Amino acid sequence: MVLKLYNTLGREKQEFVPIKGKTVKMYTCGPTVYWYQHIGNLRSYIFSDILRRVLEYNKFKVKQVMNVTDVGHLTSDADEGEDKMEKAAEKEGKKAKDIANYYLDVFKQDFKKLNISEPDIWCKATKHIKEQIELVKTLEEKGYTYQTSDGIYFDTSKLRDYGKLALLNTALLQAGKRVSMGEKKNKTDFALWKFSEQPGVRQQEWKSPWGIGFPGWHIECSAMSSKYLGKQFDIHTGGEDHIAVHHTNEIAQSEAAFGKMPWVKYWLHGAFLTFDGEKMSKSSGKIATIAELESQGFRPLHYRYFILTGHYKKQMSFTNENLENAKNSYQRLKNIIKELKDDKKENKEYLKKFENAINNDLNMPEALQVLWEMIRDTKAKGKIKTIKKMDEVFGLDLLKQEKLDIPEEVKELAEKRQLARKNKNWEESDKLRDEIKELGYQVNDTPGGWKITKL
Ligand code: AMP
Ligand code: ZN
Repeated sequence: MVLKLYNTLGREKQEFVPIKGKTVKMYTCGPTVYWYQHIGNLRSYIFSDILRRVLEYNKFKVKQVMNVTDVGHLTSDADEGEDKMEKAAEKEGKKAKDIANYYLDVFKQDFKKLNISEPDIWCKATKHIKEQIELVKTLEEKGYTYQTSDGIYFDTSKLRDYGKLALLNTALLQAGKRVSMGEKKNKTDFALWKFSEQPGVRQQEWKSPWGIGFPGWHIECSAMSSKYLGKQFDIHTGGEDHIAVHHTNEIAQSEAAFGKMPWVKYWLHGAFLTFDGEKMSKSSGKIATIAELESQGFRPLHYRYFILTGHYKKQMSFTNENLENAKNSYQRLKNIIKELKDDKKENKEYLKKFENAINNDLNMPEALQVLWEMIRDTKAKGKIKTIKKMDEVFGLDLLKQEKLDIPEEVKELAEKRQLARKNKNWEESDKLRDEIKELGYQVNDTPGGWKITKL
C-alpha cells in the first residue's frame, strides 16, 4: 500500500519512500521547557504521534528523536531578546536546570495522558554543548561564519538556495530591511553562538573557542539530529511557525556542514490551534493547558478526539463548545462500542477504507468517519477486531473499559434508593435518582441489581 505525505519541501503530496529499507529516521522539534506546553503545542505532538503510528501501521520501523530546548531560545526567534530559560529562572527564583526538569516532567505526563508515544530518544540542548561547538567549528572551517561583537553568525548569502523550504525571496527580504540588523551582514543571518554579555551573570554559559557564551537555538537541532540519526535522514516535523526561520536555518547550516542534499527528505508541518481567531500562544495570553481542561471536567482523550476531527494541515479553532461536542461524540462512541459482541475476524472492507484515509496524508477526519460508518452499519461483521486495529492509529483507548471511581456519596444514595424501591416507596426512589443525577451519575436497574454510570 502506498503512503502519501505532504512534503513542505516541494509543496506537494509525495509517495513516502525511506532513504534505506523499512527504517524511518524521524526528528521532531520538541518543547522549550521554560513553562507549561499549552494545548496548541500539544496539537503538534498529537500530529507527530499520528504520523509515527501511521508509519508503524505500514510496517515501517521508526526511530524518533525529540530535542528539549533548555538553553538558547530567545524571546524573539530572530536572535534578539532574553533567553527564555534564564528569564523564567530569574522570575521563579530557581535554577534553570530545575525549571527545565519540572516542565519536561509535566510535558511527559501530558504525553501519557494523551496517549502520545514517547520518542526513542529525548535529548537536551545543554547535554550536547560539545557537539554544537564542533558543528560551529566545521561551519567556520568551511567559511560560512563571521564574528560580530555579540556572537558567531551564519552568513546566509553564502548559500544559493537559502530559504528554499519556506520559498523565501531573500532578495526581497534584503530590500525591505526594516528589522534592526545590528552588525549582521544580511537580514536572514542567524546566531550560531552568542557571547555572554557579562560572563558570570548567566546561569547557563560555557567556554568555546570564540569566548564564553551559549549556543544559538537552531544549531542544537542540527547537532543532535546528526548525532542520533546521521547526516541525512527521512522525516523532520514541527509546527508551521518553524518553516520560515527555525527549519530554514536548520537546513542552511546542516547542508553547509554535511554536504548532503537534501539533508532531510520529507518535511511535515502541523497547523496551528487558534483561539479567538489568533494562534494560541503564551504571548497572547489566550491559552489552555491539559490540567485546566481536566479541571473543567474534560478528559485528555476528549481533546485528542477533538484534534483528530481536523486535518493536521488545517488550522483548528479551539472553543469550549467544540471540545464539548468532541466529548459527547467520544462518549457516544465508547458507549456503542461497549455493547458490541466479538465476532472474531476483522472487517476487510472497512479496514481498507480506513487505510486509504490514513495513507492519504494522514486524513484522520475521514478515518473517523469510516469508523462511525462501520459502527452504524448493522450488517457489518468483525467490528471489535477492526476497531482494535484502527485504534493502533487513533490511540483513543476505544476498547478500554473505564474504571469509574464512584464517590461514596453517590454509592450511599444508590443504596438508599435500592432500599426505597424494595419498600415500593417510588416517590422516595425517584427523588434519590434525581439527587444522584445532580452529582453527575445515573443508576440503571439491571436484572442483576443496579449499575452506576457517569452521565
Ligand atoms: P515551542 O515550545 O515554542 O518551541 O513550541 C513547541 C511546538 O509547538 C513547536 O513545534 C511549535 O511549532 C508548536 N506550536 C506552537 N504554538 C502552536 C499552536 N498554537 N498550534 C499548534 N502548534 C503550535
Ligand atoms: Zn528544531
